[in-house]
Amino acid sequence: MPFWDKHIETLPRNELEDLQVKRLKDTVARCRKTVFYRNRLKSVDESQFSTPEDVSVIPFTTKDDLRANYDFGLVTVPREEIVRMHSSSGTTGKATVIFHTIKDIETWADLVARCIVMAGANRADVFQNIISYGMFTGGLGLHYGAERVGMLTIPSGVGNTKRQIQLMHDFNTTVFHATPSYILYVSEVMVREGFDPKEFDLRIGFVGAEPHSEQTRQRIEDILDINAFNSYGMSELNGPGVAFECEQKSGMHIWEDSYLLEVVNPDTCEVLAPGEEGELVVTTLNREAMPILRYRTGDLARIVDDGEECSCGRTHVRISRIKGRCDDMLIVKGVNMYPSQIEDVLMSFPEVATSYQIIMDRAGKKALDSLTVQVELYPKMFDGDLKKLRTLETDITRSVQDEIVVRPKIEFLEPGSLPRSEGKAVRVVDKRGEM
Ligand code: ADP
Ligand code: ZN
Repeated sequence: MPFWDKHIETLPRNELEDLQVKRLKDTVARCRKTVFYRNRLKSVDESQFSTPEDVSVIPFTTKDDLRANYDFGLVTVPREEIVRMHSSSGTTGKATVIFHTIKDIETWADLVARCIVMAGANRADVFQNIISYGMFTGGLGLHYGAERVGMLTIPSGVGNTKRQIQLMHDFNTTVFHATPSYILYVSEVMVREGFDPKEFDLRIGFVGAEPHSEQTRQRIEDILDINAFNSYGMSELNGPGVAFECEQKSGMHIWEDSYLLEVVNPDTCEVLAPGEEGELVVTTLNREAMPILRYRTGDLARIVDDGEECSCGRTHVRISRIKGRCDDMLIVKGVNMYPSQIEDVLMSFPEVATSYQIIMDRAGKKALDSLTVQVELYPKMFDGDLKKLRTLETDITRSVQDEIVVRPKIEFLEPGSLPRSEGKAVRVVDKRGEM
């Protein structure tokens, strides 16, 4: 497999860490240009830093800090040098804004180009960017990277699903970028429109922006007959291009020349060892307009610690699939769980179609929590065979309970019954606060 930037992608660990220390010092110095960081960094002397772990003396930056410094509070360059503004999707509260210089945009496009080439795409490909453009970073982020690689880039955005399929068909799209939930919906519409999803020229998919399970990835790969690669990023750290899977698909390489990663215990903030699951904390190492130190991403994952370097030859560490955000955790009857655990179980049943929803409610005199999982099924797998259906219900209930301890109520629905989202899917409905 080719590389976009072989030198940096395969840099020996000691050189990579030296580069991180150098860039960390520069970033801290740059941050001092803002009032916020000048105050925060009073007791920090970056000239003493000798290893990347020295970052741990710096206080964390949180989403609330970004909000408190709305609008230009964390910008370190003169206003004239800013060429772009982006924003988070606002999944959790008020959106935050991020600014970029022209150099930032180029650095970002370059990081995305590495991901694209790492997944095996190249300039001969036709790339359809089936994701929201505008303030959300997924659209323009992949767009600039794809053009940098030299792919024919179709900025189709989201929505108008039939037209998406038409474009794929007419222009022989080979590579796409989409949220996993939306591309599964596209595949359903393909079937409804009389296409075989495998008949297109698609060969590679970049899927990300929302948590999804390994089973879901395999679904996407099987249905469309493609290779799907997990793509992780967030607007605070540019957007896509932070971490991405290589052909090994055994974790996502995080580009450590640009991002210094730590994994911390979200409750105690203690830095965890490789292999331990916790909250990802990231320091940008290569950003001009708006560098961020020790950003608490809220995302839960771990560093892949299989004792070996990846056989693709890249030296940058890998992170596991994102389990969810710390605040995605559901507490039902006092038991903690993540929607991704339920998804993993559901998608392992071939009868289960592509969509599901988790509903939490509280009813009755004792006000006990209840957990209902609505699951769309492929009806042709039953053909009115109610016995089969009941067995499936028992099997799914038991498997979900094995995973999350709480016994769910399983409700079967026809495909297409649940609301579809063009961006990030809404998987959880909590009715417990409603009276
Ligand atoms: P918001 O935080 O408002 O949704 P973004 O649009 O910047 O803003 O989305 C970034 C978030 O999306 C990440 O913090 C993470 O929670 C989620 N995300 C992005 N990529 C993935 C992925 N591959 N797997 C799981 N979650 C992801
Ligand atoms: Zn690799």
